[in-house]
Amino acid sequence: MERTIYIPNMADHAYSLSAALRAFGISAEALPEPDEETLLLGRKYSTGKECFPFIVTTGDFLKKVQEPGFDPDGAAFFMPLASGPCRFGQYSQMHRVFLDRLGHKEVAVISPTSEDSYAEIGGASLKLRIRTWQAMVATDILQKLLHETRPYEIDQGETDRVYKKALTKLAEAIEKGRNLVKTMKQIAKEVRQIKLDRRERKPIIGVLGEIFMRNNRFSNENIIRKVEDLGGEVWLAPVSEWVYYTTQRYKEDSVAEHRYLDILKAILQEKVQRYYEHRLEKPVKELLLNNEEPPITEVLHYSAPYLHFSFGGEAILTIGKAIDYINKGASGIINVMPFTCIPGTVVAVISKKFREDFNGIPFLNASYDGQEDASRLVRLEAFMHQARQYRDKKK
Ligand code: SF4
Repeated sequence: MERTIYIPNMADHAYSLSAALRAFGISAEALPEPDEETLLLGRKYSTGKECFPFIVTTGDFLKKVQEPGFDPDGAAFFMPLASGPCRFGQYSQMHRVFLDRLGHKEVAVISPTSEDSYAEIGGASLKLRIRTWQAMVATDILQKLLHETRPYEIDQGETDRVYKKALTKLAEAIEKGRNLVKTMKQIAKEVRQIKLDRRERKPIIGVLGEIFMRNNRFSNENIIRKVEDLGGEVWLAPVSEWVYYTTQRYKEDSVAEHRYLDILKAILQEKVQRYYEHRLEKPVKELLLNNEEPPITEVLHYSAPYLHFSFGGEAILTIGKAIDYINKGASGIINVMPFTCIPGTVVAVISKKFREDFNGIPFLNASYDGQEDASRLVRLEAFMHQARQYRDKKK
């Protein structure tokens, strides 16, 4: 029996990825964004020692399972895996245990892994893998447009309106197999019509860190909005960065193990990924300052003085990307992380030396655990004040 794949709503990519699956006849749906009920359910059934993103995704899965009319035999939850120096690799097994314990043994959990750069996505279908990649990259680009436009809009709410329309248009084009370059051209035209006041560039803040937390508005208390409300512009590390990184790891591991066919596959994969990124970005390029992602080897090269490549995972990406953003003009860095996150804590430890090396650039380590904390806003206000000063000094 065909199952419907439910994709956790970490970011708006859930809509475009589910559309890519539907384009190939696979029933797929993005789960709704997490909310207070998610948190209640996630907390109720976890031990309290798990990482916060795990609690949130568990809550979302359980919320779905409890919906009237839910069909356990026809459902599968999507939970990609990653190896590395943390607990992410255990998420899907733990979800399995939780679902089994709560009597939902029939519900499947689908877990493509980073070890083969998520080759399982799409199974044997290369076309589906390409479509999911296009979906991911195009959504990253839409988010860049949103973040570089919204802080300068004259009519409040206009950018959000255009962005939401663009997201729907993109998902439709993906599902119907339309030419996405054309879709991006149409979106660019609409973005160009937004009235802006760009007399002064606001301080640019790189929002980096753990992938779920930096992307998930509910979990990070909408940090991007808060930075914008305090007079900043955000550059958010794209989701596709992680896929580029896993492709690179796949290549390095294949080299180490003399798997020549896999080396070739990894090289080709990277070329195809880059090709589609360039094609989809071209129509909007002139609208973005943060328009081209550096090769992942460059990001890893930047982080090398702080962390050895073999450390793996998100910490090296956060440090490398921070340097990339500073080189492109960022005046502050926020490392968003779940409370007790292992890579996030490593970055927090390094951040003191990092600041010294980059002329005291403001660097905020923002950790979240689902509890409200009024002091977070005070710290963010102080950080934004420093970022403005840093920007003015650079000028
Ligand atoms: S990156 Fe952090 S939050 Fe995510 S699984 Fe690893 S330790 Fe947990």
